[in-house]
Amino acid sequence: MIVVRTTAELRKVLAEPRDQGKSIGYVPTMGALHEGHLALVREARKRDDVVVASIFVNPLQFGPDEDFETYPRDEDRDLALCEKAEADIAWLPTAEELFPPGFGLIVAVPHLSGVLCGKSRPTHFAGVTTEMTRVLILLAPTAVYLGEKDFQQLVVMKAVVRDLGLPIEVRAVPTVREPDGLALSSRNAYLAGAERQTAASLFRILSQLITRLRAESGAVAAVLAEGRRALTEAGVDRVDYLELVDSETLEPVGEATCGNRLVAAIRVGSTRLIDNMEV
Ligand code: AMP
Repeated sequence: MIVVRTTAELRKVLAEPRDQGKSIGYVPTMGALHEGHLALVREARKRDDVVVASIFVNPLQFGPDEDFETYPRDEDRDLALCEKAEADIAWLPTAEELFPPGFGLIVAVPHLSGVLCGKSRPTHFAGVTTEMTRVLILLAPTAVYLGEKDFQQLVVMKAVVRDLGLPIEVRAVPTVREPDGLALSSRNAYLAGAERQTAASLFRILSQLITRLRAESGAVAAVLAEGRRALTEAGVDRVDYLELVDSETLEPVGEATCGNRLVAAIRVGSTRLIDNMEV
């Protein structure tokens, strides 16, 4: 595996495979890698000739009171994991190079970014879309691999790629979970003691709600109200949202149909967790 840091180096190592018409699969990550990230790398390995994984804690996507400074970072461990998952290139860009002095571009998809997580994280998705657009144009991959775990991010990035007409395929990878259902996340490391058990109730309750929505497709409001109650009873400190939405527009739906997405964000202690499931 080759480790590159500058965009010049990255372009150089990609020039030959690109000229040879090889496909390039790109996996963007913020590091603190776990099996969820590695599932993306492995999927890219299966489908593309060259696999690039990036590790970059994107400052633009953190709000002023969020965990940018304390976000877990362990470069050596992450590189070893990338290598084990058979990435060809690990790209570790610097913020200085991606956002040089004077950088003022904003790429935003307001109608998809202001809802759900966007309500409590108003600048988050513009930070994601600005950074990812810049990176996708620099790298020009054949495909980008994104996790369904961050469902809103996936929908927003599909819209960016479509609306800019970028010749890149966005490939979604299913959520990888712990044995008790908790979606793997770098932020799970923040869960202390009993919080870990409370966090797992999110998967359990979402699964129950999906079963109920399948049986009673018209009872969306009642099922969601029951879900909010169940989460609170399970010890969740706050339900940021629990909604059933259209999987492309993210608009709430009044009746459950196949392909709708049940999406949730909760707080357990000071940790914010998200998860989602398809009806
Ligand atoms: P992050 O490092 O949190 O920015 O995540 C990088 C990529 O990994 C995103 O596309 C995430 O959706 C994806 N990802 C994170 N956790 C999981 C998981 N548990 N299962 C599948 N993909 C994941």
